[in-house]
Amino acid sequence: MQQEGPLPADTAAPTVADGADLDRRLAAALERTGHAVRTLLWRQAYANGLSPIQTQLLLHLSGGARPPRSSDLAAEFDVSAATMSEALTALRRKELVRREPDPGDRRSHVLLLTDAGRRLAGELAHWSDPVTTWLGGAPEADKAGTLRFLLDLIARLHGTGVLAVARTCVTCRFFARAAHDDPELTHHCRLLDTPFGDAALRVDCAEHQPAGEA
Ligand code: SF4
Repeated sequence: MQQEGPLPADTAAPTVADGADLDRRLAAALERTGHAVRTLLWRQAYANGLSPIQTQLLLHLSGGARPPRSSDLAAEFDVSAATMSEALTALRRKELVRREPDPGDRRSHVLLLTDAGRRLAGELAHWSDPVTTWLGGAPEADKAGTLRFLLDLIARLHGTGVLAVARTCVTCRFFARAAHDDPELTHHCRLLDTPFGDAALRVDCAEHQPAGEA
């Protein structure tokens, strides 16, 4: 039988598993999930005549609070400056993205969506509908716990250099984990001075500052 993923298929019947076996199957499930998510995104990209990175850029630019510089985007997407420059040039040629002088450094430029780019980004945002439709019926407690678990995994991957950027609550210097006894509002954001629970953990926060920075 053809193997679907990079990890070996299970052949034995399910039984009481040791921890290492559970870890291996969790890694395999994450790989399958990542593959499915990439497939959905790429379908949306090709249907609109875009490359995957061009699609991700439009989505990213539509959600950011501060217009980014090209060099910020290269780090964000873990690609070379040349690859990012090529993708941005293509989007500017399609008149979906424009650039302006950076108000903080007139020698640099920041990237913004044009009106056409914002409209297209709105359509592209539906790429995740098959996932969010299913998630809509899943128990809230499962989703909140899974979000915290995945953010802790992302923090670990960021800490070991696998991911260059992680603007999540759990990697933020303002985050106080389990600061309160209320399980629904257990964490605290010291910047916004507000308690919140796992379900409100942010995946990409505009106010994020890396833990360890003064
Ligand atoms: S500033 Fe943002 S990322 Fe940091 S703890 Fe507060 S909500 Fe989370």
